Amino acid sequence: MQIKCNVLDRQFQMYQTEYEEAALRVLRSGWYVLGNEVRQFEQEFAEFTGRKYCVGLNSGLDALIMSVRALGIGKGDEVIVQANTYIATVLGITENDAIPVFVEPDEYFNIDADKIEQAITDRTKAIMVTHLYGQASNMTPIMEIAQRYHLEIIEDCAQSHGACFGGRMTGTFGISGCFSFYPTKNLGAFGDAGAIVTDDAAFAEKIRMMRNYGSKVKYHNEIEGVNSRLDEMQAALLRVKLTHLQELNDERKVLAKRYSDGIINPEIKLPGLREKAESIYHQYVVRCAEREDLQRALEQNGVQTQIHYPIPPHLAKCYAFLGYQRGAYPVTEAYAESVLSLPLYTGMTFAEQDYVIEQINAWKP
Ligand SMILES: *Cc1c(COP(=O)(O)O)cnc(C)c1O
Repeated sequence: MQIKCNVLDRQFQMYQTEYEEAALRVLRSGWYVLGNEVRQFEQEFAEFTGRKYCVGLNSGLDALIMSVRALGIGKGDEVIVQANTYIATVLGITENDAIPVFVEPDEYFNIDADKIEQAITDRTKAIMVTHLYGQASNMTPIMEIAQRYHLEIIEDCAQSHGACFGGRMTGTFGISGCFSFYPTKNLGAFGDAGAIVTDDAAFAEKIRMMRNYGSKVKYHNEIEGVNSRLDEMQAALLRVKLTHLQELNDERKVLAKRYSDGIINPEIKLPGLREKAESIYHQYVVRCAEREDLQRALEQNGVQTQIHYPIPPHLAKCYAFLGYQRGAYPVTEAYAESVLSLPLYTGMTFAEQDYVIEQINAWKP
Protein backbone atom coordinates (compact mmCIF):
# COMPACT_ATOMS: atom_id res chain seq x y z
CA MET A 1 0.00 0.00 0.00
CA GLN A 2 1.17 3.56 -0.71
CA ILE A 3 0.34 6.10 2.02
CA LYS A 4 1.18 9.76 1.52
CA CYS A 5 1.55 12.14 4.46
CA ASN A 6 -1.04 14.47 3.01
CA VAL A 7 -3.87 13.91 0.56
CA LEU A 8 -5.67 17.18 -0.09
CA ASP A 9 -8.17 16.22 -2.78
CA ARG A 10 -10.22 13.99 -0.48
CA GLN A 11 -11.46 16.91 1.58
CA PHE A 12 -12.29 18.70 -1.67
CA GLN A 13 -14.33 15.73 -2.89
CA MET A 14 -16.23 15.53 0.41
CA TYR A 15 -17.80 18.95 -0.14
CA GLN A 16 -17.18 19.34 -3.87
CA THR A 17 -20.59 20.78 -4.82
CA GLU A 18 -20.42 23.42 -2.10
CA TYR A 19 -16.89 24.47 -3.11
CA GLU A 20 -17.81 24.64 -6.78
CA GLU A 21 -20.89 26.75 -6.08
CA ALA A 22 -18.83 29.16 -3.97
CA ALA A 23 -16.11 29.42 -6.63
CA LEU A 24 -18.62 30.10 -9.39
CA ARG A 25 -20.34 32.73 -7.26
CA VAL A 26 -17.01 34.59 -7.00
CA LEU A 27 -16.09 34.16 -10.68
CA ARG A 28 -19.45 35.55 -11.75
CA SER A 29 -19.48 38.40 -9.24
CA GLY A 30 -16.97 40.65 -11.02
CA TRP A 31 -15.30 41.48 -7.65
CA TYR A 32 -12.18 39.56 -6.66
CA VAL A 33 -10.24 41.15 -3.80
CA LEU A 34 -11.53 42.45 -0.41
CA GLY A 35 -15.25 42.29 -1.01
CA ASN A 36 -18.38 40.77 0.35
CA GLU A 37 -16.99 37.23 0.72
CA VAL A 38 -14.05 38.53 2.76
CA ARG A 39 -16.37 40.59 4.97
CA GLN A 40 -18.63 37.59 5.51
CA PHE A 41 -15.73 35.27 6.24
CA GLU A 42 -14.23 37.75 8.70
CA GLN A 43 -17.53 37.95 10.54
CA GLU A 44 -18.01 34.18 10.56
CA PHE A 45 -14.46 33.43 11.69
CA ALA A 46 -14.61 36.08 14.43
CA GLU A 47 -17.81 34.43 15.61
CA PHE A 48 -16.28 30.96 15.43
CA THR A 49 -13.35 31.99 17.62
CA GLY A 50 -15.47 34.14 19.90
CA ARG A 51 -13.53 37.32 19.17
CA LYS A 52 -14.92 40.69 18.18
CA TYR A 53 -12.81 41.27 15.08
CA CYS A 54 -11.17 39.29 12.32
CA VAL A 55 -9.02 40.77 9.57
CA GLY A 56 -8.28 38.61 6.54
CA LEU A 57 -4.73 38.64 5.21
CA ASN A 58 -2.51 37.02 2.63
CA SER A 59 -0.81 34.45 4.84
CA GLY A 60 -0.06 33.33 8.36
CA LEU A 61 3.40 34.82 8.14
CA ASP A 62 1.90 38.22 7.33
CA ALA A 63 -0.42 37.89 10.33
CA LEU A 64 2.63 37.37 12.57
CA ILE A 65 4.78 40.11 11.02
CA MET A 66 1.94 42.63 11.04
CA SER A 67 0.89 41.83 14.61
CA VAL A 68 4.40 42.52 15.90
CA ARG A 69 4.60 45.71 13.81
CA ALA A 70 1.17 46.99 14.84
CA LEU A 71 2.20 46.66 18.49
CA GLY A 72 5.14 48.96 17.81
CA ILE A 73 7.71 46.24 18.49
CA GLY A 74 10.91 46.82 16.54
CA LYS A 75 14.64 47.34 16.62
CA GLY A 76 16.26 46.30 19.91
CA ASP A 77 13.04 44.91 21.38
CA GLU A 78 12.95 41.30 22.51
CA VAL A 79 10.19 38.80 21.91
CA ILE A 80 10.07 35.45 23.67
CA VAL A 81 9.35 32.48 21.41
CA GLN A 82 9.57 28.72 21.75
CA ALA A 83 12.71 27.30 20.21
CA ASN A 84 11.11 24.36 18.37
CA THR A 85 8.53 26.33 16.40
CA TYR A 86 8.28 26.72 12.63
CA ILE A 87 10.59 29.35 11.16
CA ALA A 88 7.63 31.63 10.30
CA THR A 89 6.97 32.39 13.98
CA VAL A 90 10.53 33.65 14.35
CA LEU A 91 10.39 35.56 11.06
CA GLY A 92 7.40 37.44 12.48
CA ILE A 93 9.87 38.87 14.99
CA THR A 94 13.03 39.31 12.93
CA GLU A 95 11.21 40.88 9.95
CA ASN A 96 10.61 43.76 12.35
CA ASP A 97 14.29 43.87 13.41
CA ALA A 98 13.28 42.69 16.87
CA ILE A 99 15.27 39.97 18.65
CA PRO A 100 13.88 36.47 19.19
CA VAL A 101 14.66 35.08 22.65
CA PHE A 102 14.20 31.33 22.53
CA VAL A 103 12.66 29.22 25.28
CA GLU A 104 12.71 25.43 25.36
CA PRO A 105 9.51 23.41 24.83
CA ASP A 106 7.87 21.17 27.42
CA GLU A 107 6.98 17.50 26.98
CA TYR A 108 3.92 18.49 24.91
CA PHE A 109 6.09 20.31 22.32
CA ASN A 110 4.78 23.74 23.41
CA ILE A 111 6.62 26.54 25.17
CA ASP A 112 7.74 25.50 28.66
CA ALA A 113 5.99 28.02 30.91
CA ASP A 114 8.46 27.30 33.74
CA LYS A 115 11.32 28.63 31.59
CA ILE A 116 9.73 31.87 30.40
CA GLU A 117 10.49 34.06 33.40
CA GLN A 118 14.25 33.54 33.24
CA ALA A 119 14.20 34.74 29.61
CA ILE A 120 12.53 38.08 30.43
CA THR A 121 14.70 41.22 30.39
CA ASP A 122 13.83 44.92 30.50
CA ARG A 123 13.71 44.86 26.69
CA THR A 124 11.09 42.07 26.50
CA LYS A 125 7.90 43.28 24.87
CA ALA A 126 5.89 40.18 24.06
CA ILE A 127 5.57 36.41 24.25
CA MET A 128 4.86 34.63 20.99
CA VAL A 129 3.00 31.39 21.71
CA THR A 130 2.74 28.68 19.06
CA HIS A 131 0.11 26.00 19.67
CA LEU A 132 2.31 23.51 17.89
CA TYR A 133 0.95 20.41 16.11
CA GLY A 134 -2.59 21.47 17.06
CA GLN A 135 -2.32 21.25 20.84
CA ALA A 136 -3.15 24.28 22.98
CA SER A 137 -0.25 25.66 25.02
CA ASN A 138 -0.21 25.91 28.80
CA MET A 139 -2.09 29.22 28.86
CA THR A 140 -2.82 29.62 32.61
CA PRO A 141 0.81 30.25 33.70
CA ILE A 142 1.66 32.03 30.44
CA MET A 143 -1.16 34.55 30.95
CA GLU A 144 -0.14 35.02 34.55
CA ILE A 145 3.47 35.81 33.60
CA ALA A 146 2.38 38.14 30.79
CA GLN A 147 0.17 40.09 33.17
CA ARG A 148 2.83 40.32 35.87
CA TYR A 149 5.47 41.66 33.47
CA HIS A 150 3.08 43.69 31.28
CA LEU A 151 3.89 41.72 28.14
CA GLU A 152 1.68 41.26 25.11
CA ILE A 153 0.79 37.76 23.98
CA ILE A 154 0.73 36.99 20.28
CA GLU A 155 -0.58 33.54 19.47
CA ASP A 156 0.54 31.60 16.42
CA CYS A 157 -2.58 29.53 15.71
CA ALA A 158 -1.48 28.34 12.27
CA GLN A 159 -1.83 24.75 13.50
CA SER A 160 -4.61 25.09 16.08
CA HIS A 161 -7.86 26.23 14.39
CA GLY A 162 -10.56 25.41 16.92
CA ALA A 163 -8.34 23.91 19.65
CA CYS A 164 -9.24 25.02 23.18
CA PHE A 165 -7.44 25.38 26.49
CA GLY A 166 -9.74 25.15 29.50
CA GLY A 167 -12.70 25.51 27.14
CA ARG A 168 -11.38 28.74 25.65
CA MET A 169 -10.28 28.80 22.04
CA THR A 170 -6.67 29.35 21.05
CA GLY A 171 -6.30 32.76 19.48
CA THR A 172 -8.40 34.44 22.18
CA PHE A 173 -5.81 34.69 24.97
CA GLY A 174 -3.48 37.36 23.61
CA ILE A 175 -4.12 40.64 21.85
CA SER A 176 -3.65 38.90 18.52
CA GLY A 177 -4.49 35.40 17.31
CA CYS A 178 -2.61 34.74 14.06
CA PHE A 179 -3.99 32.16 11.66
CA SER A 180 -2.70 30.60 8.46
CA PHE A 181 -5.07 29.01 5.97
CA TYR A 182 -2.34 27.38 3.89
CA PRO A 183 -3.92 24.34 2.16
CA THR A 184 -2.48 21.72 4.55
CA LYS A 185 -3.74 23.45 7.72
CA ASN A 186 -6.85 22.18 9.48
CA LEU A 187 -8.77 25.13 8.07
CA GLY A 188 -6.96 25.23 4.75
CA ALA A 189 -7.82 27.34 1.72
CA PHE A 190 -7.03 26.49 -1.91
CA GLY A 191 -4.09 28.86 -2.04
CA ASP A 192 -2.45 31.22 0.41
CA ALA A 193 -4.52 33.00 3.04
CA GLY A 194 -4.33 34.09 6.67
CA ALA A 195 -6.04 36.25 9.30
CA ILE A 196 -5.75 37.79 12.71
CA VAL A 197 -8.48 37.80 15.34
CA THR A 198 -8.60 40.29 18.20
CA ASP A 199 -10.93 42.02 20.65
CA ASP A 200 -9.02 45.30 20.38
CA ALA A 201 -10.78 47.70 18.02
CA ALA A 202 -7.77 49.98 17.49
CA PHE A 203 -5.46 47.03 16.82
CA ALA A 204 -7.93 45.56 14.30
CA GLU A 205 -8.23 48.93 12.60
CA LYS A 206 -4.46 49.26 12.31
CA ILE A 207 -4.08 45.80 10.77
CA ARG A 208 -6.96 46.59 8.42
CA MET A 209 -5.19 49.72 7.21
CA MET A 210 -1.81 48.06 7.07
CA ARG A 211 -2.98 45.21 4.83
CA ASN A 212 -4.13 47.63 2.13
CA TYR A 213 -1.20 50.02 1.70
CA GLY A 214 -1.89 51.80 4.96
CA SER A 215 -5.12 53.38 3.83
CA LYS A 216 -8.69 53.39 5.06
CA VAL A 217 -9.81 55.66 2.24
CA LYS A 218 -8.29 54.89 -1.15
CA TYR A 219 -5.09 56.89 -1.82
CA HIS A 220 -5.11 58.40 1.68
CA ASN A 221 -2.11 56.53 3.09
CA GLU A 222 -1.95 57.08 6.83
CA ILE A 223 0.72 54.54 7.70
CA GLU A 224 3.36 52.66 5.71
CA GLY A 225 1.38 49.60 4.77
CA VAL A 226 1.81 46.46 2.74
CA ASN A 227 -0.27 44.46 0.31
CA SER A 228 -1.63 41.59 2.35
CA ARG A 229 -5.20 41.37 1.13
CA LEU A 230 -7.35 38.27 1.27
CA ASP A 231 -8.99 37.50 -2.05
CA GLU A 232 -12.65 36.71 -2.59
CA MET A 233 -12.04 33.22 -3.95
CA GLN A 234 -10.15 32.03 -0.88
CA ALA A 235 -12.63 33.73 1.45
CA ALA A 236 -15.61 32.08 -0.28
CA LEU A 237 -13.96 28.65 -0.16
CA LEU A 238 -12.94 29.16 3.47
CA ARG A 239 -16.54 30.01 4.35
CA VAL A 240 -17.57 26.59 3.07
CA LYS A 241 -14.82 24.79 4.95
CA LEU A 242 -15.44 26.70 8.17
CA THR A 243 -18.96 25.24 8.35
CA HIS A 244 -17.32 21.77 8.38
CA LEU A 245 -14.30 22.52 10.55
CA GLN A 246 -15.74 20.92 13.67
CA GLU A 247 -16.36 17.59 11.91
CA LEU A 248 -12.96 17.78 10.17
CA ASN A 249 -11.23 18.27 13.55
CA ASP A 250 -13.32 15.48 15.09
CA GLU A 251 -12.25 13.13 12.32
CA ARG A 252 -8.59 13.90 13.07
CA LYS A 253 -9.16 13.22 16.76
CA VAL A 254 -10.60 9.81 15.91
CA LEU A 255 -7.60 9.04 13.69
CA ALA A 256 -5.19 10.25 16.40
CA LYS A 257 -6.85 8.01 18.98
CA ARG A 258 -6.59 5.04 16.62
CA TYR A 259 -2.84 5.68 16.34
CA SER A 260 -2.48 6.02 20.12
CA ASP A 261 -4.43 2.80 20.71
CA GLY A 262 -2.86 0.87 17.85
CA ILE A 263 0.85 1.66 18.10
CA ILE A 264 2.39 -0.70 20.64
CA ASN A 265 6.04 -0.65 19.55
CA PRO A 266 8.08 0.12 22.71
CA GLU A 267 10.64 2.05 20.59
CA ILE A 268 7.98 4.65 19.73
CA LYS A 269 6.98 7.41 22.14
CA LEU A 270 3.42 8.59 21.55
CA PRO A 271 2.34 12.23 21.91
CA GLY A 272 0.76 13.19 25.24
CA LEU A 273 -2.13 15.51 25.96
CA ARG A 274 -1.85 18.19 28.64
CA GLU A 275 -4.57 18.47 31.26
CA LYS A 276 -7.14 21.12 30.21
CA ALA A 277 -5.60 21.27 26.73
CA GLU A 278 -7.18 20.04 23.54
CA SER A 279 -5.45 18.99 20.35
CA ILE A 280 -6.92 19.09 16.88
CA TYR A 281 -3.99 16.98 15.66
CA HIS A 282 -2.68 19.16 12.89
CA GLN A 283 0.15 16.66 13.12
CA TYR A 284 0.40 13.37 14.97
CA VAL A 285 4.01 13.46 16.14
CA VAL A 286 5.81 10.48 17.67
CA ARG A 287 9.37 10.31 18.92
CA CYS A 288 11.92 7.63 18.22
CA ALA A 289 15.63 7.43 19.07
CA GLU A 290 16.35 5.70 15.74
CA ARG A 291 14.18 8.09 13.77
CA GLU A 292 16.12 7.96 10.46
CA ASP A 293 16.02 4.18 10.44
CA LEU A 294 12.29 4.13 11.22
CA GLN A 295 11.55 6.71 8.53
CA ARG A 296 13.56 4.75 5.95
CA ALA A 297 11.85 1.46 6.83
CA LEU A 298 8.41 3.06 6.52
CA GLU A 299 9.36 4.69 3.22
CA GLN A 300 10.51 1.33 1.85
CA ASN A 301 7.09 -0.06 2.71
CA GLY A 302 5.23 2.78 1.02
CA VAL A 303 4.52 4.96 4.07
CA GLN A 304 5.54 8.59 3.73
CA THR A 305 6.31 10.56 6.88
CA GLN A 306 7.59 14.06 7.61
CA ILE A 307 9.81 15.80 10.15
CA HIS A 308 8.47 18.95 11.80
CA TYR A 309 11.13 20.31 11.97
CA PRO A 310 14.61 18.92 11.24
CA ILE A 311 16.54 22.15 11.92
CA PRO A 312 15.43 24.39 14.80
CA PRO A 313 15.40 28.13 13.97
CA HIS A 314 18.37 28.94 16.24
CA LEU A 315 20.53 26.61 14.09
CA ALA A 316 19.06 27.65 10.73
CA LYS A 317 21.57 29.16 8.32
CA CYS A 318 19.49 32.34 8.01
CA TYR A 319 19.91 32.95 11.75
CA ALA A 320 23.67 32.37 11.94
CA PHE A 321 23.93 36.08 12.80
CA LEU A 322 22.21 35.40 16.12
CA GLY A 323 25.33 33.44 17.05
CA TYR A 324 23.88 30.23 18.50
CA GLN A 325 25.83 26.96 18.57
CA ARG A 326 24.56 23.40 18.73
CA GLY A 327 23.84 22.64 22.37
CA ALA A 328 22.22 26.01 23.09
CA TYR A 329 18.74 24.45 23.37
CA PRO A 330 19.19 20.75 24.11
CA VAL A 331 15.49 19.84 24.50
CA THR A 332 14.68 21.48 21.16
CA GLU A 333 17.64 19.85 19.45
CA ALA A 334 16.71 16.43 20.85
CA TYR A 335 13.18 16.88 19.47
CA ALA A 336 14.55 17.90 16.06
CA GLU A 337 16.49 14.63 15.99
CA SER A 338 13.68 12.36 17.15
CA VAL A 339 10.27 13.66 16.03
CA LEU A 340 8.34 12.05 13.21
CA SER A 341 4.92 13.09 11.87
CA LEU A 342 2.75 10.18 10.78
CA PRO A 343 0.30 10.40 7.86
CA LEU A 344 -2.98 11.95 9.03
CA TYR A 345 -5.40 13.66 6.67
CA THR A 346 -9.08 14.23 6.06
CA GLY A 347 -10.58 11.18 4.39
CA MET A 348 -7.84 8.79 5.54
CA THR A 349 -9.42 5.34 5.64
CA PHE A 350 -9.08 3.01 8.61
CA ALA A 351 -7.55 0.45 6.23
CA GLU A 352 -4.84 2.94 5.26
CA GLN A 353 -4.20 3.80 8.86
CA ASP A 354 -4.13 0.15 9.95
CA TYR A 355 -1.45 -0.46 7.34
CA VAL A 356 0.67 2.37 8.82
CA ILE A 357 0.16 1.00 12.35
CA GLU A 358 1.09 -2.49 11.19
CA GLN A 359 4.33 -1.22 9.59
CA ILE A 360 5.28 0.75 12.71
CA ASN A 361 4.61 -2.17 15.06
CA ALA A 362 6.64 -4.51 12.84
CA TRP A 363 9.69 -2.20 12.82
CA LYS A 364 12.74 -3.02 14.95
CA PRO A 365 15.79 -0.76 15.24
C1 LIG B 1 2.10 27.41 8.44
C2 LIG B 1 2.63 28.10 9.60
C3 LIG B 1 2.91 29.49 9.58
C4 LIG B 1 2.91 30.30 8.34
O1 LIG B 1 1.74 30.34 7.63
P1 LIG B 1 1.78 30.72 6.07
O2 LIG B 1 0.35 30.91 5.75
O3 LIG B 1 2.42 29.59 5.36
O4 LIG B 1 2.56 31.98 5.94
C5 LIG B 1 3.29 30.09 10.75
N1 LIG B 1 3.46 29.39 11.89
C6 LIG B 1 3.22 28.07 11.96
C7 LIG B 1 3.40 27.36 13.26
C8 LIG B 1 2.82 27.37 10.82
O5 LIG B 1 2.60 26.06 10.89
